[in-house]
Amino acid sequence: MTLTKKPESRPAPNSWGLAAGENPWEYAPAPEATDHIRIEPEYGLFIGNQFAPSKPRKTFTVINPATEEPLARVAHASKADVNRAVGAAHEAHRSVWSKLPGRERAKYLYRIARIMQERSREFAVVESMNSGKPIKESRDVDVPLAAAHFFYYAGWADKLEYAFPNRDPRSLGVAAQVIPWNFPLLMLAWKIAPALAAGNTVVLKPASTTPLTAYLFADVVRQADLPPGVVNIITGPGEIGMELVTHPDVSKVAFTGSTAVGKMIARALAGSGKKVTLELGGKAANIVFDDAPLDQAIEGIVNGIYFNQGEVCCAGSRLFVQESVHEALIEKLKARLGTLRVGDPLDKNTDVGAINSAGQLAKVQELVESGIAEGAEIFQPDCELPTRGFFFRPTLFTGVSMSHRIAQEEIFGPVLSVLTFRTPEEAIEKANNTPYGLSAGVWTEKGSRIFKMVNAMRAGVVWANTFNRFDPTSPFGGYKESGYGREGGIHGLGAYLDLSGDGQNGR
Ligand code: NDP
Repeated sequence: MTLTKKPESRPAPNSWGLAAGENPWEYAPAPEATDHIRIEPEYGLFIGNQFAPSKPRKTFTVINPATEEPLARVAHASKADVNRAVGAAHEAHRSVWSKLPGRERAKYLYRIARIMQERSREFAVVESMNSGKPIKESRDVDVPLAAAHFFYYAGWADKLEYAFPNRDPRSLGVAAQVIPWNFPLLMLAWKIAPALAAGNTVVLKPASTTPLTAYLFADVVRQADLPPGVVNIITGPGEIGMELVTHPDVSKVAFTGSTAVGKMIARALAGSGKKVTLELGGKAANIVFDDAPLDQAIEGIVNGIYFNQGEVCCAGSRLFVQESVHEALIEKLKARLGTLRVGDPLDKNTDVGAINSAGQLAKVQELVESGIAEGAEIFQPDCELPTRGFFFRPTLFTGVSMSHRIAQEEIFGPVLSVLTFRTPEEAIEKANNTPYGLSAGVWTEKGSRIFKMVNAMRAGVVWANTFNRFDPTSPFGGYKESGYGREGGIHGLGAYLDLSGDGQNGR
C-alpha cells in the first residue's frame, strides 16, 4: 500500500534542550503492569454461579490481538449447555429473582457496581489484553461507564412504577443477550444492568474473541452473592448464539453486532412473541460547517473515528466538510494524525491499539484497497507498527465520492472517508444517503443550525460540537439497518419489561 507524504514535523523550541533532529513528541514507554491480574488457563461455562466444562468437553483458544499469543482456553458450549443455562436462568427467575422486591434487586446491582469499581484496574488490563483497545480507553471509558450503568439501573430497580406509571410493569423472564467484541465489558453492562433491574434473569454470550472480561464479571457475580442462575455466561460460536436466542424459554432477546447477523436473528424470531432489540452497524456522518471551531472539530473527528481503532458502531466514519474550509481542515487533520501513537495497547501513551482479530484486519485492508482502486486519495502517517499483532495505521481518504465502497460500507477500522458539501441541504441529503441510521455529528457555532440539522438527520443519536459521548441516562439505538429498540435510559429499561398492563408478554 502506498503512503503519501509525511505530516510536517514541528521543530522543538531551543529552550527544550533537544539535540538537532530529535523528535520532541517521542514518549518514553509507559506500560501498565500485568502482574496484579490473574487469567486462568481455562474457563468453563458460568451456569448457576458455577464454572463447569461444556458437555461434551470442548474448548477454543482466546488470543491477545496485540501479540497473537494465547491468553486462555474457554469452553465451547453445546446445544445441551444452552439448555442448561436457560434452564438455570428460568428457574432463578421463577423461584427467586422475580419475587424479590425492587429495593433488594437494587442492592445487588449497587454491590456489583462497587465491586467493578474496586476491581477496575484488573478489568481494564484484561479488557485491553483481550480486545486490543488502548489501556487509557478501557481504564477511562469502558470500565467506568460499565460500572455507571449498574449504578444507574440500580436506582431504577425499586421505581419501575414511577418510570412507567399506570402500566403495571412486570419482568419478562429469561433474557438472551449476544454481544460483540468491540466493547466487551461495556456491552455486557448495557445488557445485564437493565435486565436485572427490571427483574429478569440472563444468559449472555460474549463474542468468541473477547470473553475474558465477561468471565471476570462472572467472578464479580459470585463475589456479590447474586442468587445462582440470575446471571449465566456461555461461550461458543455464532450457532450457539442462535440456539440461545431461539430457545423457547427465552422471552427477551438483545443483540449487538453486524447487520447481517441482526437480520438473521430478526427472521428467526419473527412471530415468536419474544421482545427483541437489535443494535447493529453504522456509517455515521460527522458534518463540519465553515463556522465551526476547527481545532475543536479536529479533536472530535479524531475521537469520532480513531477511538477504539474505529471499531465502533457509531464511529464518525464519513466526514462531511463544507468546501470553504476543506483545505484548512485537511491540513490540520493530517498534522494531528501524525501525532497519534499506534502500538502496545497496554502502554498508557497509546492512542490506537490493535485491531481485534486477523479476520477484522483483513476486512479493513480489503476495504482500504477498494478505496485506492476506486480512485480516492489515501493518507497515512508514517508511524512504525509493531512487527507482531493486528495493527493498522490511522488512515484518511480524501477525494471520496458517495458511490465509493468506503463511503457506503461499514469498515469498522481506523479509516476516515472525507467528502465535501456546499449547503446545509446538500449535507443533509448526503448524510442521510446510507442504509444505516445510528449516529451523526454536527460542528457549527450556530445553535439554530444545530437544531435544524439534528431534526433533519435520520440517526438515533446526534452529537453537536462533540462526538462519541455516552451516558447511562441517555438512550442509544438506530434507524433503518442500524436496528431497532433503544438501550440506556428509561427507554432501555422499558425494553426489559412487559408494559402491556395485562402481563401477557411475560412468561
Ligand atoms: P457478528 O455480528 O458476527 O458478531 C456479533 C456477535 O454475534 C458475536 O457474539 C457472535 O459470536 C454472534 N453471532 C455470530 N453469528 C451469529 C448467529 N448466526 N446467530 C447469533 N449470534 C451470532 O460480528 P463480527 O464479529 O463477524 O463482525 C463483522 C462485522 O460486523 C464487523 O466488521 C463490523 O462491521 C460489524 N460489527 C458491528 C458491531 C456493532 O457494534 N454494531 C459489533 C461487531 C461487529 P462469535 O463471536 O462467536 O462469532
